[in-house]
Amino acid sequence: MKSMLKKRQALSLESRFKFSCHNEISCFNTCCADINIFLMPYDILRMRRAMGLSSGEFLKGYTIPLLADEGLPLVVLKMMEDENKICPFVTSSGCKIYQDRPWSCRMYPVFPSSSGEEGFFIAEGNSCLGCKEEKWWTIEGWKKDQGIDIYDKMNESYEEITLHDYFLKGNKLDPGKSKMLYMACYDLDEFERFLFQTRFFDVYDVERGIVERVKEDEGELLSFSYRWIRFNLFGEDTLRLKDKTFDKILQAKRKE
Ligand code: SF4
Ligand code: SF4
Repeated sequence: MKSMLKKRQALSLESRFKFSCHNEISCFNTCCADINIFLMPYDILRMRRAMGLSSGEFLKGYTIPLLADEGLPLVVLKMMEDENKICPFVTSSGCKIYQDRPWSCRMYPVFPSSSGEEGFFIAEGNSCLGCKEEKWWTIEGWKKDQGIDIYDKMNESYEEITLHDYFLKGNKLDPGKSKMLYMACYDLDEFERFLFQTRFFDVYDVERGIVERVKEDEGELLSFSYRWIRFNLFGEDTLRLKDKTFDKILQAKRKE
């Protein structure tokens, strides 16, 4: 998974490539070290659940928080501090959170083309021998095999925030809003406490069925956090306040 890209060729979902990664290959596990893995909120949800940790414990123990120019929080997986900087989840038999490994580990060796461009490309490098194996895939088949669909769905919802016009117009988040976004999207246990241990549902008009789903299902909780963020940061119609008069004034002000 290192930055060992030899060439770039835009591929479609139907394009074919050769790849196999298994524990008998001589490079097995060597790529799970000294690498920058940016984690999306849904990655954190899956990884911390696999580890049986709270979101706060996971973020503190396994990640490095960064801030993009727009004030958007970024989260990077923290490698071990030994000389090889190995991933904390790698074992002699492979990834110990394999079923819940992050999006970029699943996708490898397939990468989406850079933003604004359609298609994919394949990472090929000297130290990764997987591309020399005789197993053929289409990109679509690879994504299906790696369980990418739910990750793509949740990541696309998050990108509706991070790639929002608000930022394209040059706006930046102040420290308070950055913190709010980090808490709601990455620190889901904290966001859950915020919903259920404050007067949140006295203030926001949320259907009982949705409240129940948010309480029982972390994926629903994360989707709800995106709605709350979009309401708060961009003034979108993703939630309603209970005080209808105030809500109308707010909506009218947002349209000004
Ligand atoms: S999360 Fe798993 S697959 Fe990804 S780098 Fe770490 S050990 Fe490797
Ligand atoms: S085949 Fe590639 S992805 Fe698999 S362990 Fe070797 S270097 Fe890593």
